[in-house]
Formats: sequence, C-alpha cells, structure tokens
Amino acid sequence: MSSDTTPTTGLDEALRFDAVDLVGRTGSHRSVERTVPAPAQETGSLAMQVPEGEDIAVEAELESVVEGIYVHGTVTAHLEGECSRCLDPVEQDVAARIDELFLFPEKVKAEEREDSTLLIDDEVHLGPLVRDVLAMEAEERPLCREDCPGLCGQCGFRMEDDPDHEHEVIDERFAALKGLFGGDEDA
Ligand SMILES: [Zn+2]
Ligand SMILES: [Zn+2]
Repeated sequence: MSSDTTPTTGLDEALRFDAVDLVGRTGSHRSVERTVPAPAQETGSLAMQVPEGEDIAVEAELESVVEGIYVHGTVTAHLEGECSRCLDPVEQDVAARIDELFLFPEKVKAEEREDSTLLIDDEVHLGPLVRDVLAMEAEERPLCREDCPGLCGQCGFRMEDDPDHEHEVIDERFAALKGLFGGDEDA
C-alpha cells in the first residue's frame, strides 16, 4: 500500500506509533515516549553523529485532528564527532522539536501524496522525521571551542600545544610582501 521508496532502517521500524485508537476521534490525544538505540547508519550530519547503539529519545503528543494525526514533541540525542579544525573529539547534545501533521491518505489528492506526510496503516512513522531533525540540528563544522587554533597548515602540528610553533621557511610571496611594506629595518 505504501509507495515509500526510502530504504527501511532500524530507526524507521523502531519509531512507528499506532494511532488507530485516535483515528476519527477528533480532539482526543495521547502522549507517547520511546527510547531507541541509534542505528548503524549515519544519524546526524557528516561531522556529528549519534554513535551506534546510543539512545535516541522521543517524547511526543499525538493529537487527532480533522485532517489526520498531529504530532508534536521533542527528540533528544547525544552526538559525537571531531573538531573541524584540530580533530579533537567534540560532543553535542541535541533537544529538538518535532512538529508534523500526518494526513489521512484518503483526504489527500493522489497527485499531492508524494509531497505530503501521510498516516500509513493508521500509524505515524516518526523515523524519517527524527532523522531529518537530527541532521538539521547537528553541527556541520563542529569546533572544540570557538577560538580553536587548529593545526599547522604545513606540518599538522596541534597549534594549541605551542602557539609559537612556526616554520623558518618563508613563502616567497610572503617575503616579497614583507619587502613591499617595509618590514625590514635592519642597519
Ligand atoms: Zn579544535
Ligand atoms: Zn608546522
């Protein structure tokens, strides 16, 4: 029945919530809570991910409305990655909102189904939503701290270990600039 073409992952299966008791009962609502282990597949951004097996916690309210089931709540997870400058480990705690209306398929025109979030067999599938939210919240270029000095561009040395670290060899263009701005004041 479902024409969903996204590959099924552990998260998709683990985050399906039966809403059959709410269907057709506008105004009724129920809260759900589920903690699932992060799947082996990347969850987060390329730089920051929820390590496999770590908790992804979902707390949400399912509300029966005329058009379908409205879901709102939070996703919390702990992400790990590397500083984009010095490659030190970086951690990030995410607590993100989810907010989505799962429409009754029979109330959606066939040509609009592709772009809509639909109730599937009276279930809300929060997996894809949770993955999107975590991908959006995850840092793209994480830093161990705002002013991380990074690594030496020439040898990869961690600049934090010795801020005075430098190389004697001076780039020719740099030498030329130095001359141009009259940096030399030797006798
Ligand atoms: Zn760093
Ligand atoms: Zn160096």
